[in-house]
Amino acid sequence: MPAEWVDFKSVMAKVSMETVLSHYDVRLRRVGADEFRGKCPLPTHSSARSNDSFSVSFTRNVWSCRSASCIAARSGRVGGNVVGFVAEMERCSIQEAARRLDRSLTENLLPRATPGSKEPVPYASENRPLSFTLRNIDHQHSYVISRGLSAETARYFGVGYYDGNGFLRGRVVIPIHNEYGKLVAYSGRSIDEAEPKYRLPAGFRKSHVLFNLHRAIQSRGDTVILVEGFFDTFKTHQAGHHNVAALMGSKLSDRQAELIGTYFDQVILMLDADKAGKAATAAAGKTLSSVLSVQIVELASGTQPDQLASEEIHQLLGGLDHGVPTPDR
Ligand SMILES: [Zn+2]
Repeated sequence: MPAEWVDFKSVMAKVSMETVLSHYDVRLRRVGADEFRGKCPLPTHSSARSNDSFSVSFTRNVWSCRSASCIAARSGRVGGNVVGFVAEMERCSIQEAARRLDRSLTENLLPRATPGSKEPVPYASENRPLSFTLRNIDHQHSYVISRGLSAETARYFGVGYYDGNGFLRGRVVIPIHNEYGKLVAYSGRSIDEAEPKYRLPAGFRKSHVLFNLHRAIQSRGDTVILVEGFFDTFKTHQAGHHNVAALMGSKLSDRQAELIGTYFDQVILMLDADKAGKAATAAAGKTLSSVLSVQIVELASGTQPDQLASEEIHQLLGGLDHGVPTPDR
């Protein structure tokens, strides 16, 4: 247990890049709808030539510096969130930066953001953690097996058939967590052709989370593999690639882009190879390439990751530079 507990989430929600930049007297100019650029203020920046390598998105509350020597001096990290920025400026650990920011907030050391500036993401829009968990889930139900999941994978993700009461009765339930690992919803997949295919609780905002993000973060790489659905995630994980997260659809939301930019330096898009998936790959690639490096996995036309065998997934991802996959636990 750390001696002084700091709530990263509340620090990041309360402190904007705008506030921190003004604290360090960093001036940037607008170059796009949500992109500001200028001279890099970091102590790791040594190149005199790159006068415009530092870039900030105030909407996503993230920064990056594209100078190769600056990136190398930061152990290969291209950018990060507001806490990471303070850690670089102060040359301290992330934990210490969060502690300092937290202290600054309570002691009003940081200047307030200028009036009319972007508000941080409001708490009201967050999905609240659930106060219950479902019990008696059958991880070895025939539907789960028919989708190619091993009992180990099903148990790991908590996926299985639910025979209890309520709107998920008679469906295969999938627990969804926020980036801090807090359970925020269950999705229920029909096991026959019953519509809707997936049920989610009323009011749940799936565009505000990425499925499996908390585990992808824990895999401690700088790269995330982004897929569309739950079963794509399960199969990719089962193939030995644990740094996988899902959009729960084909559209990348602003909040999801922000989450990816906050936790990773690189993203591998492995969306479905149908019309919607290809359009989504193009759109997501465009959005994400402004904050981190993007690689695209091309599946055979008409296929999607959940239909592939472990070896096929491994082959598709194997050639890409995203570190050695962690062994199955
Ligand atoms: Zn720099």
